[in-house]
Amino acid sequence: MKKWHLIIDVEKCEDCNNCFLACKDEHVDNDWPGYSSPQPRHGHRWINIQRKERGKYPMVDVAYLPTPCMHCEQAPCVAKTGGDAVYQRQDGIVLIDPVKAKGRKDLLGACPYGAIYWNKDLDIPQKCTFCAHLLDEGWKEPRCVGACATGAIRALLITDEEMRTTAAAEGLEVLHPEYGTAPRVYYKNLHRFNKCFLGGSVAVMINGREECAEGAKVRLNNGPLVTETTTDCFGDFRFDNLERGGATYLLEITHRDYQSKGLAIDLEQSVTLGTITLVQIAA
Ligand code: SF4
Ligand code: SF4
Repeated sequence: MKKWHLIIDVEKCEDCNNCFLACKDEHVDNDWPGYSSPQPRHGHRWINIQRKERGKYPMVDVAYLPTPCMHCEQAPCVAKTGGDAVYQRQDGIVLIDPVKAKGRKDLLGACPYGAIYWNKDLDIPQKCTFCAHLLDEGWKEPRCVGACATGAIRALLITDEEMRTTAAAEGLEVLHPEYGTAPRVYYKNLHRFNKCFLGGSVAVMINGREECAEGAKVRLNNGPLVTETTTDCFGDFRFDNLERGGATYLLEITHRDYQSKGLAIDLEQSVTLGTITLVQIAA
């Protein structure tokens, strides 16, 4: 049985909000009987773009995380209504029945992702429908996917087995697997949002002046070797996709003719170390 899935590449999202606006265009003032009632003009973000800034000047980055309903296979919102007012279709899409769910404000608390919004004018809970009304008419993708100019969102109608294979091949992850809801939305480069980086610059003293140290070896350990790299022509290095909290990392910097340097770092968040200057080995 083929089911709908989304793959969202965090690296490709530019926060243009075209997907959000396409969702508004499709659902605000539009009634899709059997699927959804009109979305209010304000207050609802059926695909919400979260933002995360990491590091500090001069080494800083920003990542954007589009978060629609995850259309979970083990959806707490479905369980809360016994599969009646909120139900999962055979193609994996989770829908809120706008008639049966009337007055069910309690459903907002059932979603650990915060994907359900309250429509106070219609007295109903609402969320992303995966544009099921369009797919049932033969569309190949929901409106958000078609609106994304960078190709950050893909829609796939494939079996669970094919999705598992795709996830393994492309290194995909789900958001908050600890919730145990088996989401159908997968992310690529999720580390840009939920992991840390550690970076800095290495310099050496030449004739009393600080110069960029190109080619310095930088190793990052927390017991067994974690990873290593070499500084670029600006003396910069950067490690990404590091777990935060709990681990103390040891940073070792070596460069020919200069004394090695070691630093112990507790990584609670992304760290920009600034410039680390190596001293020449005495002749
Ligand atoms: S349309 Fe694409 S690039 Fe723009 S915010 Fe949405 S996912 Fe990101
Ligand atoms: S993300 Fe929330 S609203 Fe969507 S299916 Fe999962 S539990 Fe339900």
